[in-house]
Amino acid sequence: MPHRAFIGIGSNLGDRKANYFEAIDRIQKIPGTRVLKQSSLYESEPLGDAKTWFVNGVIELETEYGPDELLKRLLQIETTMGRKRVSGKRWGSRIIDLDILLFDSEIINKRNLKVPHPELQNRRFVLLPLSELAPQLVHPKLAASVSALLAGLKDRKKIHLLRAG
Ligand code: AMP
Repeated sequence: MPHRAFIGIGSNLGDRKANYFEAIDRIQKIPGTRVLKQSSLYESEPLGDAKTWFVNGVIELETEYGPDELLKRLLQIETTMGRKRVSGKRWGSRIIDLDILLFDSEIINKRNLKVPHPELQNRRFVLLPLSELAPQLVHPKLAASVSALLAGLKDRKKIHLLRAG
């Protein structure tokens, strides 16, 4: 049985939309992996040190890979696309950022991989696109649906629709 995962995608450097779609193309080419759905595209106010607004969205995929192998592939895509890590800076600018938001209903608490993504419930730029794809999906740790989490959200950062999906 293939696994089902939701991936958050963000870019705030260079041609942000082109980067976003290049990442989806590259994810689609991971062996044994198929992109099932794509959310609308949003533009969101940056967190922390970043200056430029992010282009954000979420995709749903099915994959034969387990979570560790999927993470490895996503990090490879980030590296290939030229993401540079600026040491000491969290939430700096980035060509592409790929996060595993959910992986089946697994709860993973490893040093290098935490699923569900620990910030998922705090971020409108994640919950809004995710709610387009899976409003009824229940967060395995918080036992609340995506739409309930969105309704209870306190995130006041600005976000607007760039392109309806
Ligand atoms: P960031 O700078 O936020 O993109 O952090 C990237 C690092 O977060 C990666 O090297 C991963 O090992 C780690 N990480 C932990 N949990 C996740 C997750 N759910 N999805 C993607 N990366 C994760």
